[in-house]
Amino acid sequence: MRRATTKAPRAAVRAWEDDPKSGGKPIKRTGPQLGTAPLALAITGPAVPAKLYAPGTRGFRYWAAAEALRRAADFWGALLPRGTSWQPGRTLRVTLDAGVDLNAYYDRRGLSFFHDTVGKTTVYSGESPDVVCHELGHAVLDALRPELWDAMSVEVAAFHESFGDISALLAGLQLPSLRRAVLAETGARIGRSSRLSRLAEQLGWALRQILPGSAEPDCLRNAVNPFFYRAPETLPPSGPSSSLTAEPHSFSRVFTGGWFEALAGMLASRASAPTEADLLQVSLDAGRLLVDAIPAAPIVADYYSQVAAHLIESDAVLFRGRYRDALKSALVRRGILSLQTASVVTAPGTTARARRTRTAPAGGGETQTRRLSLSADEFGLEGRALVVEAPGEVRRFEVASAAEDLGSRTAPAPEHEARRFVEYLFRRGRVDLGAHGRAETRVAHPFARKTHALVAQAEDLSLVRRTFDCGFDPTS
Ligand SMILES: [Zn+2]
Repeated sequence: MRRATTKAPRAAVRAWEDDPKSGGKPIKRTGPQLGTAPLALAITGPAVPAKLYAPGTRGFRYWAAAEALRRAADFWGALLPRGTSWQPGRTLRVTLDAGVDLNAYYDRRGLSFFHDTVGKTTVYSGESPDVVCHELGHAVLDALRPELWDAMSVEVAAFHESFGDISALLAGLQLPSLRRAVLAETGARIGRSSRLSRLAEQLGWALRQILPGSAEPDCLRNAVNPFFYRAPETLPPSGPSSSLTAEPHSFSRVFTGGWFEALAGMLASRASAPTEADLLQVSLDAGRLLVDAIPAAPIVADYYSQVAAHLIESDAVLFRGRYRDALKSALVRRGILSLQTASVVTAPGTTARARRTRTAPAGGGETQTRRLSLSADEFGLEGRALVVEAPGEVRRFEVASAAEDLGSRTAPAPEHEARRFVEYLFRRGRVDLGAHGRAETRVAHPFARKTHALVAQAEDLSLVRRTFDCGFDPTS
């Protein structure tokens, strides 16, 4: 007889459900195993033994982060196509405290979190599950649709931010205690503002102390918000959190708001008095819709409307249209899809082009973004060409977002959209110029946080992304 192998029970740890400042109390969870595939993770530095640490200690922060990382990675790992792996490789490395800053980012090497002291409070961005699951969301989306990384488009960049927030919301809903809390707080109408919809309360608080208006009054961003779609080119490049701007984190709130309203509608369409089990099921279905829709949605300047149309199509394929009305209603109410084009997605006789597949050959025509050569003169880098990726994939659905007055918006050409986003990055000091350009002509912005960098390519320069960060611009 073979001897049964007995595994020692794993030790319990304490963790936050969503954020240190959400009003929740620490909960007990089984110590997570970070290295589990798929989507293996590793925290850099010495391991901390699993046990019940008191809040405020390094041990508590370590396990609060580990629990959130594993929870979000387990959620997405169960949904992603088999064989999907992190862009940086098999294991995603996480640095819990990379120094003094109020920031967090994903940079294709791993996730980095920081600490800073505001007044008498030291805020560790890696202690907040909302922040951790947002950053992990960037890494998940990069694994699912790596072509988004360098596409020069406000809506593409903003969708990456929205997906980060959606990752935090869906990872939160995997906790039974948070499902019960949100159903109780909202009277089972989860479209109301709640602990769930308010994201990164503590980081939002810290940012407000430094720059009033830089975060929402009670959190960093709230998935319950009133923003209606506006063409990004009509919006200013920066502004207070109360207004919508073309800055990607600000503009992400349009998609997140519409998506969250759809989630609430999906729940309401299941039951008039939804239970915790209904809420769990809706969170899983919503995750499946995203994972199915995103690889098929072409990267274009008006990317929101393409993702929206594909969510509706995915619902028809996966759930026989069970959530069609919830999705269409929310997406039209937010202007993400225009009234006119929302009707065509699942109309009888609608023909869409073939779906993109993950095995499409590299360089295979219509699944590629378009390389575009701009003159670098206007950015103070004379005599060089600046090579960027324009959002120029071929549309599958002829849909559009809403125009401000009537009907549908006309999407800008890929070249025009890329040109505008490049200008935005240079204007706001998001580009690390390195040693390129003459000191007399270039505008270097030494104190602004960099998300992109210039890379020399023979005679030319290419503009590539370095990071997605959590959105606070210290120079604004
Ligand atoms: Zn982000």
